[in-house]
Amino acid sequence: MAIFKPDYYVSSYRSVDIDRLKRAGIRLLLCDIDNTLMAYNEKLPSAEVIQFIDRVQRAGIETAICSNTTKKRASRFARDLHVSQVYYLSCKPMPFKFWKAMRDHGYKKKEVAILGDQLFTDILGGNLAGIYTILTEPISVVDRSTTKFTRKFEAIVFKNLEKKGFHKGEYDG
Ligand SMILES: [Mg+2]
Repeated sequence: MAIFKPDYYVSSYRSVDIDRLKRAGIRLLLCDIDNTLMAYNEKLPSAEVIQFIDRVQRAGIETAICSNTTKKRASRFARDLHVSQVYYLSCKPMPFKFWKAMRDHGYKKKEVAILGDQLFTDILGGNLAGIYTILTEPISVVDRSTTKFTRKFEAIVFKNLEKKGFHKGEYDG
């Protein structure tokens, strides 16, 4: 179950402590889109998301999008964001796009982080890839039908993670 345990747990992208990432040696932050930076029924990033990405970049950490969504949705979302790359159809939890992002940017595994809302895609994939994992609560309670299904299993994993000292709703920092 340790494979599902995130390195850092936040209530929202807004509460990500950028200094904490810097201290952890992170140089590239990969961000999931759906329910991490916006809800499924939205198409464009909010001003707050644009500011968040800019704040991370100004702190000297590169940012890129790493989503399982389509090219069309990911590109439209990222158009007004100052990200270095947009990885779509990433097939998370497969680790390949994480490794590609690492190679494309010239960083080591431990210098790359993924910020995402799902244990079974973002966190499992990130841990399999050997990168730093950040779990956020989903932005909206509305999920895609496929996600609704996996959320049931997620609840079981959260229960098991309690044995590892991880408690849902008890955020870091
Ligand atoms: Mg997501």
